[in-house]
Amino acid sequence: MSDQGRIDGKTQLIGLIATPIGHSLSPAMHNMSFRKLGLNYVYLAFEVGNQQLADVITGFRGLKLRGFNVSMPNKTKILPYLDEVTPAARFIGAVNTVVNEDGKFVGYNTDGVGYVRGLKENGVDIEGKKMTLIGAGGAASAIAIQSALDGASEIHIFNRNDESYAHAVKNADLINHEIAGKCKATVHPIENEELLRASIEDSDILTNATGVGMKPLEGRSIIPDASWLHPDLVVSDVVYIPRKTKLLEMAESVGCKAINGLGMMLWQGAKAFEMWTGHEMPVEYVKEQMF
Ligand code: NAD
Repeated sequence: MSDQGRIDGKTQLIGLIATPIGHSLSPAMHNMSFRKLGLNYVYLAFEVGNQQLADVITGFRGLKLRGFNVSMPNKTKILPYLDEVTPAARFIGAVNTVVNEDGKFVGYNTDGVGYVRGLKENGVDIEGKKMTLIGAGGAASAIAIQSALDGASEIHIFNRNDESYAHAVKNADLINHEIAGKCKATVHPIENEELLRASIEDSDILTNATGVGMKPLEGRSIIPDASWLHPDLVVSDVVYIPRKTKLLEMAESVGCKAINGLGMMLWQGAKAFEMWTGHEMPVEYVKEQMF
């Protein structure tokens, strides 16, 4: 075990670039894991927007960082600065984890992997499942693509008529035509309540991948009332502040399995941790300390 918790001349740096950044749980999660395992790394958050991205990546290369996480607003903008991007991250169109592989910066997306693993930890296997997915932003795109790659049978995407709608159409197109597998995807306006309700009725999983349910939309749900849900439905929410959103309260009231976004957050980090260090993150310890 190397200098537990101490920084010395061999300490390797892992970064996070985003803005705003102060609320991120990632520095605490990774640093407590390094300390617990006695690994000589430190994880630091840097307030970086699109304007500084080019300079920062040049600096990271010069400093030979072991890797870094990328969050908003840099997840899509980072792609041209990387040496390689995995096929899944390319489909998603966003990178949240970069690993320095012998001097090459390789981009991954572990958000979708984290989501699927979070379901699995709750006893839900995505394979063969029909999903109603609300949202088409960064989180939703990762969920849609990874769920299709991991064997979901149908994904019905609903989004409001904003700039994300085009992402929904692109994601469905990729799933239907580019991703080898049997998943079928459709896209609909969220305003079509009749269709949304019928899709939920026919689904195994309902996923809210929008910020509805967290501040400033805390106390609101993406569906109007609990009668839209059936007890066999798994209801998952990407939001984890609050831990129990209005949607998850509704889900529990009709006996659905209700899963918040903490698992996705934890497991996306665990996957990145493993790629940077070659060690499994001590997730039970992290859960005890943070959740
Ligand atoms: P984004 O801005 O890329 O996408 C937002 C999506 O929500 C879009 O599809 C948009 O159309 C939809 N939307 C926004 N407001 C809406 C409303 N009032 N009604 C209906 N639809 C609405 O954002 P993102 O990065 O995808 O993040 C979405 C949420 O996911 C945030 O709450 C974020 O905190 C959360 N998130 C969680 C994790 C995790 O690990 N659990 C990871 C990433 C993001």
